[in-house]
Amino acid sequence: MNPTNDSDASATSPAIAKKTAKKYVPKPEGLNLEFHRACLANGLLSVQRCSACGEHRHPPRWYCPSCHSGDYTFVPVSGRGEIYSMAINHFTVDPGWVEDLPYVTAVVQLDEGPRVVGSLRGVPPGEVKLGQVVEVSIEARGEDFAFLVVAVAGNGASAGSVTSHRG
Ligand SMILES: [Zn+2]
Repeated sequence: MNPTNDSDASATSPAIAKKTAKKYVPKPEGLNLEFHRACLANGLLSVQRCSACGEHRHPPRWYCPSCHSGDYTFVPVSGRGEIYSMAINHFTVDPGWVEDLPYVTAVVQLDEGPRVVGSLRGVPPGEVKLGQVVEVSIEARGEDFAFLVVAVAGNGASAGSVTSHRG
């Protein structure tokens, strides 16, 4: 029933060579802009950390929810975490995402504590599981927007990783 597509490289299909609509790039402002610029400057996912108590937080806020300090910095984090929640998108109104359907938007609980939202790559939507260990990285979309990419940790080899679920 489920054909196995071990060698399917649909993410880099020749369809990209055709005229494709560009994905919309948001224009963040204020603290959100600080977040995106910190990620781009570091080349790594970077979240806000309270300078007083050291707690990481995301999305960015002016004051620490734990100690109410207004002092903060943006610091790189490991990017490691696990899938806390997700949505499998079978439909989109954005022409730029049509060729990616179906795609997974994942909420990742980072090892450092906060949750971030990113686009899952490299795993067929039907094989994604809550709690799966993932890594979040960034891709630059211009100078002011860091696109968050989620990948299953240790998914370097394409064959034989999560395929044997039928005994
Ligand atoms: Zn604090």
